[in-house]
Amino acid sequence: MSIITQEPQVPEAAAATTPVLSLVVPMFNESANVDGLFARLAGVLADIGVTYEIVCVDDGSRDDTVARVVEHHRRDPRIRLVELSRNFGKELALTAGLQHASGRAVVMIDADLQHPPEAIAAMLEKWREGFEMVIAVRRDRENESALKRAGARAFYRLFEEVSDVRLPPGAGDFRLLDRKVVDVLNAMPEHTRFMKGLYAWVGFRQTTIPYDVAPRAGGVTKFNYFRLYRLAIDGITAFTDVPLKVWTFIGMLVAAFALLYGLLFIVKTLILGIDVPGYPSLIVATMFFAGVQLISLGVIGEYLGRVFSEVKRRPLYVVRGLYGLERGEKR
Ligand code: UDP
Ligand code: MG
Repeated sequence: MSIITQEPQVPEAAAATTPVLSLVVPMFNESANVDGLFARLAGVLADIGVTYEIVCVDDGSRDDTVARVVEHHRRDPRIRLVELSRNFGKELALTAGLQHASGRAVVMIDADLQHPPEAIAAMLEKWREGFEMVIAVRRDRENESALKRAGARAFYRLFEEVSDVRLPPGAGDFRLLDRKVVDVLNAMPEHTRFMKGLYAWVGFRQTTIPYDVAPRAGGVTKFNYFRLYRLAIDGITAFTDVPLKVWTFIGMLVAAFALLYGLLFIVKTLILGIDVPGYPSLIVATMFFAGVQLISLGVIGEYLGRVFSEVKRRPLYVVRGLYGLERGEKR
């Protein structure tokens, strides 16, 4: 699904043998974290002692993330890079990483060291026991703002109510996926990729391990409230059509109420004669239902917009350059 606009700058072929472990690291303006991340990963991975590759995905960084990762790649060819042509968002950066990773197990991890790499050893242990997905679940959200926490809680509760897939609270993108799961995810063509929902949707044998979120090592968060809102809407519209259908019931309720109210008026007029008050209630009712109609149109718009973007069948992302990886999204 990717378009490659440029020949790989580093011609040497990827390592001949398939690594046991692929790490997928999405990066968007993470220049401040690159050196620290690779230093920490090198230590942890040496202790674990499996063959590995680190597939970084540059999501259109405007700082020198790419140059820094390439520098590391030249020193250690197990550090590889998919450079996207612009910022496509974390979900698509992860998708690009999964499509370029070749390991028998793949772990997705943030570049800012909020996900402690030490947890990878425990994940691999569970994987060897036969689990196909090992989800790292954060113990608490203490180092997040109250508004973010409240928003997350509201989202998870709503998602739980309206969709069929279950999202364990506290489970994010930090998880291990077996090759089988990665192949299934790679075969999914959809554009609106709400990864947390897709992981849950695919099934397989899953288990969890707990971890403590660390504060961001350097740089700043890339998710402001507006992006989180978009992510939440993407998630809900991708996994349920309840918001589309609920209007039928609201419409029926309102119509039934209007009918009863009308009957009441007829009876009242027959008994008490004509009386004219009710002007404010008229305005209020008109404005209220105009609002309700606009909301329902907006909901339809959200879905229609997504259908529109799916039917255009554009590639999910565009690759500008590959370092230590072969052409083509699947290997
Ligand atoms: N990220 C990305 N593309 C984006 C936004 C974020 O690849 O458009 C990456 C970012 O570089 C980091 C990870 O996704 O490695 C998580 O982002 P961040 O730490 O900003 O999110 P938070 O931890 O604050 O939720
Ligand atoms: Mg972070």
